[in-house]
Amino acid sequence: MKIGSIINGQEFKEEHRETLSVFNPYNQEKVAEISLAGVEDVNKAIDQGFKTFHSTMKTMPAYKRSNILLKTANLLEDRKESFAEIIAREAGKPLKYSRGEVDRAVQVLRFASEKAKHIYSEVIPMDAAVGGENRLGFTKRAPLGVVSAITPFNFPLNLSLHKLAPAIAAGNVVIFKPAEKTPVSAYMLVQLFHEAGLPTGALNLIMGKGEVVGDALVQHDKVQKVTFTGSLPVGKNIRKKAGFKKVTLELGSNSPNILFDDADMEQVVEDLVKGAFAFSGQVCISAQRIYVHHSLYDSFLKEYVKQTEALTVGDPLNENTDFGPMINKEAAERAKTWIDDAVSNGARIATGGELKETMLSPTIMTDVKSDMKIIADEVFAPIVSVIPFETEEEVVKHSNDSVYGLQAGVFTKDINRALRVADKLEMGGVWINEISTYRQDNHPYGGVKQSGIGREGVKYAIEDMTELKFIGINLNEKRL
Ligand code: NAD
Repeated sequence: MKIGSIINGQEFKEEHRETLSVFNPYNQEKVAEISLAGVEDVNKAIDQGFKTFHSTMKTMPAYKRSNILLKTANLLEDRKESFAEIIAREAGKPLKYSRGEVDRAVQVLRFASEKAKHIYSEVIPMDAAVGGENRLGFTKRAPLGVVSAITPFNFPLNLSLHKLAPAIAAGNVVIFKPAEKTPVSAYMLVQLFHEAGLPTGALNLIMGKGEVVGDALVQHDKVQKVTFTGSLPVGKNIRKKAGFKKVTLELGSNSPNILFDDADMEQVVEDLVKGAFAFSGQVCISAQRIYVHHSLYDSFLKEYVKQTEALTVGDPLNENTDFGPMINKEAAERAKTWIDDAVSNGARIATGGELKETMLSPTIMTDVKSDMKIIADEVFAPIVSVIPFETEEEVVKHSNDSVYGLQAGVFTKDINRALRVADKLEMGGVWINEISTYRQDNHPYGGVKQSGIGREGVKYAIEDMTELKFIGINLNEKRL
């Protein structure tokens, strides 16, 4: 299967183009070949998007945008199995989690379809200011125009839709550059939108290497906003280069989960196995640091190791698989060196730590120090550390001792403590009695510090993808 960029509905995969192969990370089976785009393709896509915005999307009524999104949701629901299978093959994500991703993606489209009809504005009390009598003032939320959307490999469908669906709900056009590691689900998604009736120039797909096409997507004068989900170094680079454009950055983290002495241990252990090892830890809010009150530490660790070792490891396409490969060999080898570094500095492996090709076994570490890479940096791999603590003050301090601040989990039956700690944690989001890895697609989501700028979650992304415009009328009779 050879696939290429799609600009104004036309696919570009001529023979002369450089290609890149996509392999199943589990067995190296070739999944697809992508025909790569260059800067001139990006420029063409942006020009086309700009034209389509002014001719069509800018004035498309909300009910039509809403209908297109709903139709896309229904089509995706009908083809759930083929999308889940391709995600399992191109990303190596176990089928049960791939299916979950498609379900969430359908929901995101439905939220966006609803929100497209509820983009409200407000009337300003003009007479609150001296001299404001006889004036009417109100706001309108106007679409921005061309939005560049750059997405990562780990949720190739749902995280793309967190950008595409709100952008279209608001009446924008999108230049969509998915991760080159997982391009097939993105390609299928663009076709779905077109089938649902979206004007072809309103969603243009660029199949390219980030380092080749990235700058053109970020710096072009006709792009009004860049929305990016991915790693911190690329995010920093985008922020530097975007100039006056609006920018949303959804970046990494090393999420803490805190278990106080009254935590409901039974459920938490089971949830944290998923929270640390779902999709091999390649989740931005994966549980990376688990702080356990010293009174629970031994019993927690014993049960956590036991349940982790019971995971069914293997082929992502197997119905029963809980745990599969990492995205590629380089990523798995990088993670293994971080384990080795920690061990050589005194850390212990409670379970896991074995590497074979792309399969890094689910790894639990203990006796870690705060300056080790597996604590201070984002591991983005199946590695979690269990750390004992004594006091609330100490655990809050350790949790906040990070350049990141995306989402945290706090477990306690004491609601006063829970709310106090939630206030003190420097995070974009805090879950109480829920793991850091849990995300619902309608709550505001995004980070503080170097975890990012801006918020997603359909309603919040729409706010960021519109411009607030003020319109005032002088009602003086002589002027009307
Ligand atoms: P990545 O940064 O390597 O790639 C993300 C995208 O950026 C890809 O499409 C890539 O081609 C593109 N890119 C690469 N270089 C670029 C450049 N110079 N200019 C513009 N675009 C460029 O990330 P990844 O490995 O695909 O994903 C993993 C990272 O994503 C992790 O750090 C993870 O925490 C983060 N992430 C964050 C969230 C969130 O919501 N906060 C969600 C998922 C993943």
